[in-house]
Amino acid sequence: MRLRRTARRVAANPVAIAAVFALVVLVVLAIVAPMIWGESADQADVLSASQGASGSHLFGTDQLGRDLFHRSLVATRLSLLLAVSAGAIGMAIGIPLGILPAVLGGRVRRFVAGFISAAIALPGLLLALFVNTVIGVGATGAVLGIGIANAPTLARLAQTLSAGIATKDYVAAARMLGASRTQLLFRHVLPNVAEPLILTGTMSVGWSLLEISALSFLGLGVRAPSYDWGELLKEGLQGIYINPMGALGPGIFVVAGGLAFALLGESLTGLAQRIPFHRTRGRVSHQPTGSTTMDTTDPTHVLSADGLSVRFTGADGSSLAAVNGVSFALRRGETVGIVGESGSGKSMTALGISQLVDFPGQVDWRELRVDDVELATASTAEQRRLLGRSLALVSQDPMTALNPVLRVGRQLAEVAQVHRGMSRRDAHALAVDRLEHVQITDPERRARQFPHEFSGGMRQRSVIAMGLMSEPKLIIADEPTTALDVTVQREVLGLLSDLNVESGTAIMLISHDIAVVTNVCGRVLVMYGGRIVEDTPSNALLSDAAHPYSRALIAAVPTMTSDRDHDLAVIPGRPPTLEEMPPGCSFAPRCPLADDHCRAEEPPLGALAASRRVACWHPQSGTPLLPQRRGEEATA
Ligand code: SF4
Repeated sequence: MRLRRTARRVAANPVAIAAVFALVVLVVLAIVAPMIWGESADQADVLSASQGASGSHLFGTDQLGRDLFHRSLVATRLSLLLAVSAGAIGMAIGIPLGILPAVLGGRVRRFVAGFISAAIALPGLLLALFVNTVIGVGATGAVLGIGIANAPTLARLAQTLSAGIATKDYVAAARMLGASRTQLLFRHVLPNVAEPLILTGTMSVGWSLLEISALSFLGLGVRAPSYDWGELLKEGLQGIYINPMGALGPGIFVVAGGLAFALLGESLTGLAQRIPFHRTRGRVSHQPTGSTTMDTTDPTHVLSADGLSVRFTGADGSSLAAVNGVSFALRRGETVGIVGESGSGKSMTALGISQLVDFPGQVDWRELRVDDVELATASTAEQRRLLGRSLALVSQDPMTALNPVLRVGRQLAEVAQVHRGMSRRDAHALAVDRLEHVQITDPERRARQFPHEFSGGMRQRSVIAMGLMSEPKLIIADEPTTALDVTVQREVLGLLSDLNVESGTAIMLISHDIAVVTNVCGRVLVMYGGRIVEDTPSNALLSDAAHPYSRALIAAVPTMTSDRDHDLAVIPGRPPTLEEMPPGCSFAPRCPLADDHCRAEEPPLGALAASRRVACWHPQSGTPLLPQRRGEEATA
């Protein structure tokens, strides 16, 4: 699929087409030229010595009467072979060297990084001449010299690319899960940097071709009786006043070969930058377990997910579910909160819906409909359009959602230009209007400012305004007030509620704060261990939570009447990591009501009453207090 997409883009790029055509011609020549013209290229004919270009000798002849055009064609094989070998040597040394600092630790990393910096400071040609002299003048010395000379450039590129990957959350998570350096290297770092490095490697073959020809021209590369284009250029230059084509001909081949590799690499790099790397897409074929199948075709639903999972690969290659087959729906205009401790799968659920889970995560679902369109059946362009227009994501940190070097108004306007096809002027007017709508004073002036000139609350409201530019049907707000003080927090939550009331936008509010969620939302999904354990109206949750985890969360919220002489209630233990997920009910190790049945069999999310679902073998009732042991409850 990706290959087909790349091929289509190459076909639409004239420079890439020309480069591919030139390379195909050169490769064909490298294969067939020695077979067809090898004999005439080497056959001396003193009667035709030192002739100029003519119909029978396009590039003329040399001092022995050999046809220079035929010799240039035959030299294609050796010239390309040496260039590709030098390029491969450069990649074989440079790429591993550059990637190592991303997975090594302490002094070794500093040593390798320092070595790369020192090597790149040396002039490449000087390094190539040095290696060539040490190894011995000739084709082998030239190839090794040029390969080694190109390695530091590739190493620096690999170092820069892999350093960016090494700081990603999923690499940190893999480290925490005990992945070895080799696993980090081959599973996480290399797959993410391989593509741009291979493209640069293609260009390095072009540089190598020019450099080896230069060494041969100087008499330090290929030497008679063997010949490459550089050697022919040197010979041709000696008779340039008698036969200019003797020098120009091989020169044209050198330039054409070098340009073909360089342009192909450039074009592919440009195309690859426009194709997102490793964006995962759900597969309908996967059938997650532990969830109910629900009706996802209800037209009153703005979002419905059935069997949605987000998975990662563990250090031992096993599949780890951060979100494990959750099923739920949001009606149009509904406000739904998702609560749970860190690591319960709240944010991953939002990212899975938005198709924003980064590699190596994998999103699967049985049914996932946004605004009544099944994402699995939509093309990539349709998905982008649908998710861009119908859904807005407000993240925890607005600085990561706003580009620091672009004015806020420009960033907002871009959304309307891309998703609604508006003109620049209209989009800017709409951006100002939306900034005013989210209660940013003096919006015209503020639209011309940069994100760093905004306060934290204004930035968060700007991100909400950005979401409103496409008139979304659903806003997913992932911990939107965590980084804000309580006054601004109240303003932002009030704004979300107002949007819901005024424009009927459905809101999915993700928070670890159950008090905030029950204030803003009409319905709450409680998540634990990547699963929904309770789905209930907010008022029922506060007065009659059924799942022991929900009850423990509510009991842990301090109120105005909490006794300050006593410690706050806490839930004993800690949430399980992905690798430690217990069999049966994942809350069992922390649940005072757990019995053998709980530990052996996972409770399904079943209906408890109208509009209420719970995943527990022993659902509770009544106002939540600190969870009691079963025996205690029986005697109470
Ligand atoms: S299923 Fe058992 S262990 Fe799990 S929450 Fe219910 S009572 Fe506790």
